[in-house]
Amino acid sequence: MREDHRDQQTSRLVFDGDLGLLRDRTVAVIGYGNQGRAQAIVLRDNGIRVIVGNIRDHYWDRAVKDGFEVYNIGDAVRRADIALLLLPDEIAPGVYRESIEPLINNRRGFILCFASGYNIAYGFIKPPQGVDVIMVAPRMIGWGILERHRQGRGYPVLIGVAQDSSGMALEYAKAIAKGIGAIGLPGGVAVISSFEEEALLDLLSESTWSPMLIAAMEAYFDVVTENFGVSPEAAILELYASGELAEIGRAMAEIGFYEQLKLQSRTSQFLHLTRARNFYKIARRIVEREALKIWSGKITREWSPDLASGRVILERLLRIAMRSRMAEYEDRLYRALGRR
Ligand code: NDP
Repeated sequence: MREDHRDQQTSRLVFDGDLGLLRDRTVAVIGYGNQGRAQAIVLRDNGIRVIVGNIRDHYWDRAVKDGFEVYNIGDAVRRADIALLLLPDEIAPGVYRESIEPLINNRRGFILCFASGYNIAYGFIKPPQGVDVIMVAPRMIGWGILERHRQGRGYPVLIGVAQDSSGMALEYAKAIAKGIGAIGLPGGVAVISSFEEEALLDLLSESTWSPMLIAAMEAYFDVVTENFGVSPEAAILELYASGELAEIGRAMAEIGFYEQLKLQSRTSQFLHLTRARNFYKIARRIVEREALKIWSGKITREWSPDLASGRVILERLLRIAMRSRMAEYEDRLYRALGRR
């Protein structure tokens, strides 16, 4: 049983794709932001014809400066065979309805590629029959994609197919994963996944362990500075400003979650492992509750492209966070250290 499970997992890993599938095609990168710029540059370096679709703003100018032909979004889609939709997820449905959908309704063989599962998984975008709908979702920020490209290294992506009109959709996803420098290189891997699975994984991280870390750090800061007279500078350096946490994260990625523990002192290992056991039950309850909210779609009642209230709440919470004691002391410390 265990072995079967492992075999299944292994067969979902893909290490290469056929770039030949993208030759003689025009790829429109829609949105020249974090992902758009990085993916466009790497695709072009890999010999693919790339054009950019963007609104007329400084991103447009940047794309021109980088040597791309830039069009408004509709014109780029009209000129392309493949569109990579690299807009913020909450913006994409509106742009899609206005500038993309009317142009691809009768375009059999057109390929629409997403970098996240969100809009297809929750039905905010419903592409027409006849087009391939695929996902190539990097597990890497845009800057990291360019950095690895310079070093000749790959990175992980999740790939998936929501609509396979050509019968070749998964092969196109692999080809795009190779074109954007994720696979076909050391360190690169594509995991065959789905739009629903990608949305669950992504939103669940953002709803559970990552905010738990923020809450734990804020509580730590408040307790040591308010109850024990610790200097805010020492607390912030201990928490994240020293860069030790970033190094631990790097070691986790490179040598493994548990192996990196061995690089720490015995005291540290003892405290990590005993305390993690204590926290597990409560953490699991939270993860299960949030996973159900995401899987059932309830999450979109709090945050979705149609909800103006979500944005209002976000702006308010950001203002409060920026005025918090920790943010205030962080600003002073970072100025003293010459980081600001
Ligand atoms: P960005 O926030 O960097 O923006 C992308 C582009 O969208 C910019 O060119 C931006 O131009 C444009 N844009 C914003 N608003 C509008 C609008 N109203 N009309 C038309 N264009 C607009 O996005 P990301 O690169 O972060 O995200 C793109 C996709 O990649 C998303 O699906 C995301 O989930 C996915 N992704 C992102 C990762 C990341 O590291 N950021 C990692 C993996 C996947 P301007 O701002 O000038 O308006």
